[in-house]
This record gives sequence, structure tokens and C-alpha cells, in this order.
Amino acid sequence: MNAASNSGNTSATRRTKFVLVTGGVVSSIGKGLSAASIGTLMEARGLTVTHMKLDPYINVDPGTMSPYQHGEVYVTDDGAETDLALGHYERFTHCRLTRRHNLTTGRIYESVISKERRGEYLGATVQVIPHITQEIKDRVYAATEGADIAIIEIGGTVGDIESLPFLEAIRQLKIENGPENAMSIHVTLVPHIPTAGEMKTKPTQHSVREMREIGIQPDLLICRCDRNITQNLKEKIALFSNVRVDRVIPAVDVSCIYELPISLHMEGIDTQIVEHLNIWSRQPDISEWERVVQKFKSPERGKVRIGLIGKYVHLKDSYKSLHEAMVHGGLAADVAIQTEYIDSEQLERTSSLSSHLEHLDAILVPGGFGDRGVEGKIAAIRYAREHKIPFFGICLGMQLSVIEYARNICDLEDASSVEFGERVQHPVIDLMPDQVGVDSKGGTMRLGAYPCKLVSGSRAAEIYGTSEISERHRHRFEFNNDYREQLTSKGLVLSGTSPDERLVEMIELPDHPHFVACQFHPEFKSRPRQAHPLFSAFIRAAVARRQSAGRGHQPKAESATIN
Ligand code: GLN
Repeated sequence: MNAASNSGNTSATRRTKFVLVTGGVVSSIGKGLSAASIGTLMEARGLTVTHMKLDPYINVDPGTMSPYQHGEVYVTDDGAETDLALGHYERFTHCRLTRRHNLTTGRIYESVISKERRGEYLGATVQVIPHITQEIKDRVYAATEGADIAIIEIGGTVGDIESLPFLEAIRQLKIENGPENAMSIHVTLVPHIPTAGEMKTKPTQHSVREMREIGIQPDLLICRCDRNITQNLKEKIALFSNVRVDRVIPAVDVSCIYELPISLHMEGIDTQIVEHLNIWSRQPDISEWERVVQKFKSPERGKVRIGLIGKYVHLKDSYKSLHEAMVHGGLAADVAIQTEYIDSEQLERTSSLSSHLEHLDAILVPGGFGDRGVEGKIAAIRYAREHKIPFFGICLGMQLSVIEYARNICDLEDASSVEFGERVQHPVIDLMPDQVGVDSKGGTMRLGAYPCKLVSGSRAAEIYGTSEISERHRHRFEFNNDYREQLTSKGLVLSGTSPDERLVEMIELPDHPHFVACQFHPEFKSRPRQAHPLFSAFIRAAVARRQSAGRGHQPKAESATIN
């Protein structure tokens, strides 16, 4: 769809209005959460919302990037590997996003270059303006059609060379759609300088000036700060930025991210947006969010300590959805979550696993790639199994649970995954058949939502309360069916499979308070207002362990050794 057809919208197809979110001064300023919170408030006013993230990097998608570089890769139902901001958008609103909702420079150029090769530009010199910018706008219009409001976040910081084509595209989009149909929101920083005892507006002034140099006058400013901004200071920012003073919106740091929509609402942001965009809508109902925040801040049942055994423990963004899903599980169980990020390589070096794991109320082994740190994770799984500590394994976490069981219960000492070496004596985890011969790395895993059926009477079926589920995947390796018989005869329960029963999607142990693992990533579908059942069950099991009389005093099995 092009601009002409968008502006040709009549009452039959409602016209989509655009909120264009940019960021200035520093990265990680909270653009994603600001955009998501705007989505929350617009939905709470009864409007339909969609979100997009435009990322200036040249990778076609973030799927090939290390978590150290980019944080978590968020997977959508349709199997796109996307920016973690899409996770915020899906958690804060009811929108369901797809591969069309995360654009990168790489994807735009890929498409423009292949059009050029097909001769579609009819002899024209293909240029950033107008061809790249037109491609961006076409994709924005196509992905947002039908929504009342589309909130478009532009990654990076204004002033970066690489974000210029995206900024130019939104400048054009603003002009094409007119002031009542598109507005620019700029997120900036208003730092407090302790030695001066003052908050400073200069970074904001400079950042807005950068925006104006490229032709975009922000209509509203979200000013990230660690304390409230006085009226005087707001007036100063308004004057220098050419923004109305009631559209200078402070975003004071919050202890719970789900408080941000509430705090922005108190500052009047949603009123300002609907007024600017000339939309008639009701006052927002944010009571659900108030309940979420209230529960988060004063849980009735204290806290539980969850050990997350991973290798990206120094970078919390790598486990963003996981962290949020645990928080949601805590909200459902009315308990606060204290996550201890434990470096799996450290567990490989320790002579006493107990000193790292004994005090935990539950242990979680998340997804991951490669063999670094896997022996530490396997040792933690063994410890959880033997000491009856509630355990939850996700993706690689499930694969390692199978390896641990094969090694220590089925006497397959050399059991391992083909991922960790080609010549494995007992490849209990093997490459999926459709991955054989796949050399290209981008977007080639088993990705996105697949159906799964649960075995009746299993803990999994009881937790979900249904026998048919759909969950999102991101993996290349799978449970090797050659070992089904051997493993199940020793007690491992395969509680979830693909509908044709070929793929093992969930496992569990019956003689354990809670030992559940899945090949998929349930964290992507957990929501603050509706915790994922696997996370609420896991957290409930942690609460039960904490409350059990023998907590910490139960007879110890022999300490797991690390081989
Ligand atoms: N590395 C494993 C695989 O590709 C697990 C992937 C994951 O944990 N997301 O199958």
C-alpha cells in the first residue's frame, strides 16, 4: 500500500494514525518501553494498536547476532527472529506481531537490491532517497494497515549515521499523512548532575536540534530522569525545543516496568497524543495495570530464590523474556522473584555444587547454543533431580536434561548432543533431519509456533489444563528417537510431542516435586496480565519447596560430580 491509498482511506477502512518514536542523547534510554507503554494506554482507551521496530543495523535480522551484542532474540509466532522490543510490545498490549513488524537496514537493502536485479526500477538510478525511503514507507504502511494507531520505534540514537534513511522516511511519512495523522515523540535524557545539584536540559536541547536539522520537529518529548522535573525546567525545555510545555512529559525511573504506562498517564501523555492526533476516545482504564504493579510491589507470600544457570549471566538483556516470564509467574503466585544468575562455567570449576545451589528454591536452565558451559548446566540439572529441587529446562535446558538422564540413570556414560561434537557415542540429542545440509545461518532454524499434544495424565497436561498447545521454537537439534525406548523404560516421561508424535517437545519426571522441561520457549508467550502456565507452575513449586518443613534439611544425595 502506498501513501496515496493510505490517505484515501474513508470511514469504511479506518485510517491508521502514526506515533513515531525516536531517541536521543544515549542508547538504552527506554524507547522500547516508552513505545510499549503508549501502546498500553492507547489500547486502554479502546483503540486498536500495532507496533513496529525499525533497526538501523545491516544484519537482515538479529538472529545471527550474539546475545552479548544484541540481547535476546525474540521469536514471533510466524517464526521471525526479532528485536527484543517486540517482546515488550506483545507483553504490554494485545497485538500479535510478525516478521513484517521488525525492519532492518539489511532487510530493506536486500529487497531493494533484488528489485533492482529484476529490473523493477525501469532504468532509474537506485538511491537512498527516494527508493530506500519508499521501501521503508511501503513496508510501514503494509504492516500497520487496519490498526487505529501504529507506534513505530526507530532504533539507535538521533545523530547516528546509519539511522538517517529511517529518520528521513518518517519525516516523509509525517508530511504525507499530515499533522493530525502522524506525530513525532522524542525520548531524551534529563540528567541530574550531583556536583551542580541541578538537572540539566542541554542534552535535550542538542538532541531536539539534531532532530530539527533533519527536518523533524518533535511534537512531544518524553524526558527520562531520576527525579521529577520542576515546572520551571519543563518551561525551559519547551522554549528551547519548540514543544508545548504540556507535551514535555517526565518519565521518572520506575522500579517495575509495568508502572511506566501508569506514570506516563499521570503526566497526561495519552491525553496529549489523542488531542494531537484528533482522536475521540474514552478515558483509559488502567486498573489491570495498577493491580499488576500493586502485586509486584507488595506480594503476599514473600519471595523465592530462582537460580538461572546460563552463560550470558552478565548481560540481563540476554534473558529478557525469561526474566519477565518469571516475574509474571511470581505475580500469579503472589510472590516476589529473586533471580540469581549463576555462571554455568563457574559450576564446572567448583568443588562444591551445594554451596552454589542448595539455598535455591528452584533451578532453571534456559536455552543456549554451543558447548561452552554445558557441563556446568548438566551438573546443576543432576543436582536438581537428585535433591528434588523444582527444575525447569527450556530448549537447550531440555536437551541437557535428556543427556543428564541418559548418562546417570540409563548408564549411557558418553551420551551427548551432536551440537557439541560430531563423534558422539550416544547422540541422545541429534540434528533435526531437515537441518541436515543447511549451511546458511540466518533464519534457518526450526522457528516459530508449532502445535504440540500433551499426554493425558501428565504433569504438563495438568499444568496447561488442556491437551493441545501451540508454542514458539528456535532450535536445530532434537531428542533422538533411537533412544526413546531406553530412556522411557527407566522412567523418563515424554509428556508432549508433535501431533504426529515424531518430535519430543516436553519431558518430565514423575517421582520429583517438579521436573519439567520443554523444547520450545514458553517465555515468549507469557504476559503480565496472564502468566504462562509453565512459569506459574514452576514458581508455585518454588514456593512449595520454600515452605516445606524439610527445606534445606532434607537428606542429601551424594553431591553431583562434574565430569
Ligand atoms: N542449541 C540448541 C539447538 O539448536 C538449543 C537452542 C535453544 O536453546 N534455543 O537445538
